[in-house]
Amino acid sequence: MIVSVVLQVVWLRQLYSSQKVQVKRDLDQVVSNVVKSSNYLSMLPGNEGNDNFLSFFQSPEWLQFKEAFSRMRGHKVMSRFESDVQGDSSVVDISIRLPNKNYVRKPHKVQRVFDHGETMEEQLHLDSVEYERLDSLVDQELMKNHIKVPYFIVKYDWESERILNGYTVGKIRRADYHSEQYSYNIRLYNNFQLVVPSLRGIVFYRMRYYLLSSFFMLLLTGAAFYFVLRLMKHQQVYAQARIAFTGNMTHELKTPVAVMEAALDAITRYQLTNDPEKLLQYINISKTELHRLNMMIEKVLNLDEVDSGETRLRSELYDVQQGLEQVVTSMQLQHKSAGIHYHPSEEPCFLDGDPVHLTNVFYNLIDNALKYGGNEVQVDVSCHCTEHNIIISVKDNGPGISKIYHARIFERFFRVQDNVDVHNVKGSGLGLNYVKQIVEKHGGKIRVVSDVGKGSEFIIELPLYNEG
Ligand code: ADP
Repeated sequence: MIVSVVLQVVWLRQLYSSQKVQVKRDLDQVVSNVVKSSNYLSMLPGNEGNDNFLSFFQSPEWLQFKEAFSRMRGHKVMSRFESDVQGDSSVVDISIRLPNKNYVRKPHKVQRVFDHGETMEEQLHLDSVEYERLDSLVDQELMKNHIKVPYFIVKYDWESERILNGYTVGKIRRADYHSEQYSYNIRLYNNFQLVVPSLRGIVFYRMRYYLLSSFFMLLLTGAAFYFVLRLMKHQQVYAQARIAFTGNMTHELKTPVAVMEAALDAITRYQLTNDPEKLLQYINISKTELHRLNMMIEKVLNLDEVDSGETRLRSELYDVQQGLEQVVTSMQLQHKSAGIHYHPSEEPCFLDGDPVHLTNVFYNLIDNALKYGGNEVQVDVSCHCTEHNIIISVKDNGPGISKIYHARIFERFFRVQDNVDVHNVKGSGLGLNYVKQIVEKHGGKIRVVSDVGKGSEFIIELPLYNEG
């Protein structure tokens, strides 16, 4: 998990750097396009549709020449640019003037244009008009390239390279991107530079699909990890339960065998054939233990059958009332001291089910109620029908089951360990699991209503027999 997170982070970092380089390249391209367009548009307004114009003023040769012309404007060199339409041609007039020794600079005159005699104010006004167009050209180019970033344009004095519009050198240096300084077009007096303070947003935006897939990869890895852990935990719990089960079962199987062995041994050792009363007593003990052993084997075999899918319900029309009555009567005989009360339904309750398995279900529930209910247990068994279902309830006034265990008692091998008395009650943790599986195989449901100290009620809902 950690390795996969680290790998993802390394991969995303590399991707981030390469995307950043790519965005910078795109911004260079934007600036270069803006320079071209701005140059062209500044040449001779009104000539925008002229192909000849376009190819000439956007050619690299012209751009180089223009850049050189702009850079030549030192205090020793003066230059002039003029364009005009004369007859059928457009005339662009560029000239350079080198002052002689006796040249005296006229105050307030711009060095670049000497013939027109433009003042600095006029030139700066022209600059601001051109600057606005430059700004909208940058916007257009960024939009065309699908780059949405906050930017600013730094204005440099053409001669001293001082920043004129308030930005600091530190701010420009800290920015993720800054272009070269360009004069942008021939009419602009100063140099300009495009600065983008942060590229993070656009880089992340471009990486969005990678980020998303990375996120889902991590999510999937996390989920897989979680499920493996859960499975392992489950396996561990299962393994522990199995060990407990083996211990329980060994005890459960060994006890009746040991008791029978002792009984038979006593019969032969003390020649109890001469004492029929004692003999009968010992034989009865052996019978009870044998019965218990048989029940235990049945339970395991039944569950094994259900598990392997071999249990085929031998369904027939089954009278639930009759089945319950038989089990209750037999249990009353076995547990004479316990109070088992049966409250039958007034109407007949029939269903389509397997008599053997359903009898086992009733037997298990009543047996549990008697086992866990203590010495003075009262068990109420009832049955009634609704429009579509038969509701069977087995209720006792025993120690009850804490709500946290309600789902778990139906798990295989699970036995509530909290209840001190339960330690003394023998069991395998198989009964309720078997009951649930059989009820569900009949299309029914089982639930428990219980709490500590309030007794337990197991309620089964089974579908009524449907003639259709
Ligand atoms: P076993 O009885 O063999 O332990 P079961 O699957 O029949 O296994 O029952 C699972 C657990 O549910 C029992 O160990 C017991 O803790 C609890 N239990 C079942 N029925 C009752 C009941 N009527 N009253 C209290 N606890 C019960």
